[in-house]
Amino acid sequence: MGQRRKKRLKFFQSNPWCCFCGGSKPATTIDHTPQRSMFDNRIWPEGYEFPACDDCNHRTGNDELLVAMLAKVRPAYETGATTDNFMELVAGVRNNHPEVFNSIGMLGAAERKRLIRERGIPVPVGMLPSELPIVSLRHPAVAAVMDAFAAKLLMALHYRHTGTILPKTGLITYRWYTNADTRPEALDQVLKVLKGSPELRRQTTSLKEQFDYRFAVESNMRTAVLVEFATAFYIFGLTTSDPDTHEWADGVRKLRPFQ
Ligand SMILES: [Zn+2]
Repeated sequence: MGQRRKKRLKFFQSNPWCCFCGGSKPATTIDHTPQRSMFDNRIWPEGYEFPACDDCNHRTGNDELLVAMLAKVRPAYETGATTDNFMELVAGVRNNHPEVFNSIGMLGAAERKRLIRERGIPVPVGMLPSELPIVSLRHPAVAAVMDAFAAKLLMALHYRHTGTILPKTGLITYRWYTNADTRPEALDQVLKVLKGSPELRRQTTSLKEQFDYRFAVESNMRTAVLVEFATAFYIFGLTTSDPDTHEWADGVRKLRPFQ
């Protein structure tokens, strides 16, 4: 038996069930979460491989392009260049989500100035507020894509850090923020309690500049995580295996494991 095949068999022996749909379907594929397309040169962190059934593995397929593209929207003044596969991702989004692609418009100068003032968005030295590019992500399809992406990511991290699959009755909640949102002050308080800080590396290379998070786990039932994708956006999320023991703030949107 080849090394690859042996490794696969061993993976499914230790991870027999899909961790994205409640734990009742056998895992048939190895899912990379976050997907490889989010990383430069598709080099993803060691150990971020998760057991998935076919349905869950393919569920976010084309949507992942959109999230990967958003994660790689780095201001040109920051890197001086776009990342390796950025234009490929842009083409993918244009093909698979033309409605979203066409809605991602640059805001007009007046609206940009207003946002910059209202939210206190920092303008780099040597740049005028009217020159700072801000794009609109208001299309409803963006929200739907983020729901599926965040749910998958948070279930994967739940599995990794509690060692249990989020059950069908479990719940996921999240908020996401882009680099044009005001950073909520409460997040600094949250960071103080999220003491878990994982290694995110491939061999000797740290990948934390592209994907980083802090987490806390409570009695294998709940997780809280704050995930940052480069400087583009971050996700604050909670998972709980037993929603009855959790107090929910009014109006919180709750997601379930994939059905
Ligand atoms: Zn599944």
